[in-house]
Amino acid sequence: MEITCRCPQCQTAHSIDPIEVQNPVACSACGHPIPLTPSESIRKHNLVDVCPRCGKTAFYTQRDFNQRLGLGIMILFALIGLVFVWLGRPLYFYFSLGAGALLDLLFYVMLPEVTICYACKTAFRNVSKNPDHKPFDLHIADIYDNRSKG
Ligand SMILES: [Zn+2]
Ligand SMILES: [Zn+2]
Repeated sequence: MEITCRCPQCQTAHSIDPIEVQNPVACSACGHPIPLTPSESIRKHNLVDVCPRCGKTAFYTQRDFNQRLGLGIMILFALIGLVFVWLGRPLYFYFSLGAGALLDLLFYVMLPEVTICYACKTAFRNVSKNPDHKPFDLHIADIYDNRSKG
C-alpha cells in the first residue's frame, strides 16, 4: 500500500508505505512529525477501514486520472483536427476530436482506483477494494469540511 498525505506543518506531499515506516514519520522537508496509525486491517489485509492520519472512517474512490494529461490529449487531437481543416477536410476535425475523446475514455477505464479520506484527503493506492467505499458524495464531504473548519 502506498499513501499520499500532506505534512500538517508545511503542506509538503509525502508518498509513504504506512506499514514500512516508523510512527511518527518525520517530514523530509521540515522535520515535523506526521503521526500515522495504520489499523489492523491495513496492516494485515491491505484493506483501508480507518484513516491512519486522522482516525476517520469515511472514504471515497475515484479513478487515478491525471486531468492535465486528459486535457493535453484533447488539445493535441484538436490541433490535428485543425490540420485537416487547413487541408480542406473540415469533417475530419470532428473525427479527430472524437478520437481524442475516445482515447481519454480508454485511459479512464484502464486506470486503477484510488481511495481518498473525506476528512484529511489522504490518498491510498494499491489497496484491496473495500466494497463500503463509494464514489465521491458531496453531502458526506460537506459534513467533514464543516467539522474541520469548526
Ligand atoms: Zn513538513
Ligand atoms: Zn483521514
